[in-house]
Amino acid sequence: MARRKKIYEGKAKILYEGPEPGTLVQYFKDDATAFNAEKKATIEGKGVLNNRLSEFFMNGLNAIGVPTHFIRRINMREQLIRAVEIVPLEVIVRNYAAGSMAKRLGLEEGTQLPRPIVEFSYKNDDLGDPLVPEEYIIAFGWASQQDLDDIVALALRVNDFLSGVMMGVGIRLVDFKIEIGRIWDGDYMRLIVADEISPDSCRLWDIETGQKLDKDVFRRDLGSLTDAYSEVARRLGLMPAQPGPSKPTLIN
Ligand code: C5P
Repeated sequence: MARRKKIYEGKAKILYEGPEPGTLVQYFKDDATAFNAEKKATIEGKGVLNNRLSEFFMNGLNAIGVPTHFIRRINMREQLIRAVEIVPLEVIVRNYAAGSMAKRLGLEEGTQLPRPIVEFSYKNDDLGDPLVPEEYIIAFGWASQQDLDDIVALALRVNDFLSGVMMGVGIRLVDFKIEIGRIWDGDYMRLIVADEISPDSCRLWDIETGQKLDKDVFRRDLGSLTDAYSEVARRLGLMPAQPGPSKPTLIN
């Protein structure tokens, strides 16, 4: 049996060559990193949960006409995706102040923002993904003004969808990050949602208690990350209501 070709390995995922041209296999690792990989751990089961959760969110987006790279889940840790050319930006949408914004502006975490705010970081680990204004993005050619308008529109549609879904299960979507990919159809280029959408890339707080159900549990040593992610999966109906005494069991 031929060994499949690894295309790229990141902090939480590996990309392999896909079965057909224009496709890739995205493998979710159990590795967790924070603060630009200064803090690292392996958290058993995280990859399985994120694969399933990302499938759920991407499928939901595809169903409402927000294009994503997701094609189908292959197994517990892998999904088939469309190969894209990644726009070198982290697109962050915030509904409430938290994390780096709360710090930068001296705002209390949880302060509601006057409206959803979209911001961009330049994807570069060596530089710690610095926040960049649109002016830089256009001047350096990372994206055009038209691309940026389309990216903001996409990001806000993702925000509406995710906020609604999470609200329905008693969770506040504080903020999240998405990545955007380009796909080419002859001479035409389209921008689609890529990478992953999971509690690794969102801030999710229980509406009633304020309990954190996202990667801040790992960043800030607040308890078990898999318990937090399992709770999100359970509320979304992706896990049995009464998990058994052993490991988390995902439905499908
Ligand atoms: O750290 P900061 O407050 O800027 O993060 C905003 C949101 O973007 C959080 O939900 C965080 O999990 C996500 N994020 C991410 N990957 C990064 C930086 C931020 O998923 N490299």
